[in-house]
Amino acid sequence: MLPRLLPALALAFPLFSAQAETPEAQSTARIFDHLRNDPARLTLFMRNFPKGGDLHNHLAGAISAESYLDWAAEDGLCVSLSQGRILPGKCRLATPGDIPAAQLKTRDDAREVMIDSLSMHDFTPSPADRSGHDHFFSTFGRFAPVLPAHSGAMLAQARDQAAADHVVYLELMISPGLGAMVKAGDQHPLHDLDLDAAHEALKDERPRLVAEARRNTDEMEHEAHDILQCDTPAAHPGCAVTVRYLFQAIRTMTPAQAFTQLDTGYQLAHDDPRFVGLNFVAPEDNPVAMGDYSLHMQMFAKLGALYPDVRLSLHAGELTPALVPASGLQSHIRDAVEIAGAERIGHGVDILWEKDALRLLKEMAQRRIAVEINLTSNAQILGVSGGAHPLNVYRHAHVPVVLSTDDEGVSRSNLTLDYLKAVSTTPLSYADLKSLSRNSLTYAFIPGMSLWDGDHVITLCKAPQSFACADFLKKSQKARLQLQLEQNFAAFENAISHEPLFQ
Ligand SMILES: [Zn+2]
Repeated sequence: MLPRLLPALALAFPLFSAQAETPEAQSTARIFDHLRNDPARLTLFMRNFPKGGDLHNHLAGAISAESYLDWAAEDGLCVSLSQGRILPGKCRLATPGDIPAAQLKTRDDAREVMIDSLSMHDFTPSPADRSGHDHFFSTFGRFAPVLPAHSGAMLAQARDQAAADHVVYLELMISPGLGAMVKAGDQHPLHDLDLDAAHEALKDERPRLVAEARRNTDEMEHEAHDILQCDTPAAHPGCAVTVRYLFQAIRTMTPAQAFTQLDTGYQLAHDDPRFVGLNFVAPEDNPVAMGDYSLHMQMFAKLGALYPDVRLSLHAGELTPALVPASGLQSHIRDAVEIAGAERIGHGVDILWEKDALRLLKEMAQRRIAVEINLTSNAQILGVSGGAHPLNVYRHAHVPVVLSTDDEGVSRSNLTLDYLKAVSTTPLSYADLKSLSRNSLTYAFIPGMSLWDGDHVITLCKAPQSFACADFLKKSQKARLQLQLEQNFAAFENAISHEPLFQ
C-alpha cells in the first residue's frame, strides 16, 4: 500500500504550495470574479469546479422521472394518468386513464403528464396542486413501485451524476430492508414508551433484520458495478466516486416502527463499514413527525449511548412559520444537537425562528456542527430562497456549511446548480468556494483523520514525501479523499487559468 501511495503523493506535490496560492490559483480566483456577471461561462466554470462530497443525497430522490418511467415500461407496469403515478402491476381492463408504461414512448402528451407528476418538472401551482411542498413529497409515493427492482441502476445513475458534477464522495441515504423492520415494529409495540425494553425485545430479530439490509445492499452494489462496467476499460466515470451510506429511517411512522428502524439502523451501521451513520427522513412538518419529535430525540439519545461509534446527521429545521405554528419552530435544531447528539444538521432553515437562536448558532460553531444546505430543495419545498435563506447567517456565525443536493432527480437539479445558486445570492470568493468544497469532506462521516486543519494541510503532511505523511494517508480513508480533492483543485486551476474561453 505504501509504495502505491508515494507516486500519488509526488503527483500531489503542487497542492501543498496551492495552500499558499499558486499563480494558477490566483489567476482562477480573478477569473471567477470576472465571471460573476456572465452566467453561461460561470456555469461552465462551476460544472468543472471540484466539489468534494455530496453529504445530503437521498438515492430515491436522486433519479430522473424519465428513468423511473423507462424502468416501469421494462417491468410491464401500468401508469395511472389521472393519479400521475406508477402502479404496482399490469393494467387492468377498462380502468379509464390507465395505460401500460410502455405506451409512453409513443405518447408524448401522456409522458409529459407523468414526468410533471414524478418530479418538479414544469411545476406550476394550480387549484388542484397548489403546494410545491406537497407536490415534491408526493412524488416519492408515485414512483415507489419501481424502486425495489432497480436499486442497482439507481446507484449507478447517482454515481455517474456525481462524477459529472466533479464530486469524489457520495454519502447516500438509503433504507434497505425497511419493510421487514416496519413489520417487526408492528409485532413489538412500545409498551409505556420503554425504550430499554423495546431494545431488548428486538434482540432475537435484530440479526435477521440487519442481514436482510446488508444483503439488499450487496445486491444493489453488484448490479451497479455491472451497469457501470467498473474494473473494465469501458468503466463509467461513476466508478471513481467513493460511496458510503447513511441508513435513513422514516419519521412519520408509529413509535414502534420508528424505533425498530432506528434500532436496526444503529446495529447495521455498527456492523457494516459501508454504513457510516444514520439519518431520519420524510416531511418534518407531518403531524406524526411533529408530535413525536421529542420521543424520537430520546430514541436517538438512547441508541447513540448504546452505539457510540455510529454517527448521526439529522434533518432538523426544514420548517417555516407558514408550515407549522410558532410552537413548532422553537427547538428542533437545538434538540437534534443537544439531545439526539447529531453531528450534522440537514437544512436548518428555521434557525431564524428557534428560541435563543444566537446562542444556538454559537454552540454549533463551537462544536463544529455542520449544516447541510440544500438551496434548490428549500426553494421548491419551503419557498425559502435568495437573501431570505439563512446560508449567510450560518456563514457569519462561523457554523460550518456544506452544499448538497437533497433530491436532485425530483428537483431537476444537481450540485453544480446549487453552487451557482449560492454564488448568486451570497458574496462568495473563490477561496470561499474551496472552503465549501473542503467542508464536504471534513464533515463527511467516512472514517479517518483529516488532512486539513481548517484550510491548511496538517503539519505532518507539510513535507509531502515523508514516510510519516504516507503512513498517515494509508490509515485515513478521509485524508485520501481530501488529497484527491486537492489534486483536483490543482488540475482545475491549471486548466482554467490557461483556457482562452475564460480570459
Ligand atoms: Zn433530505
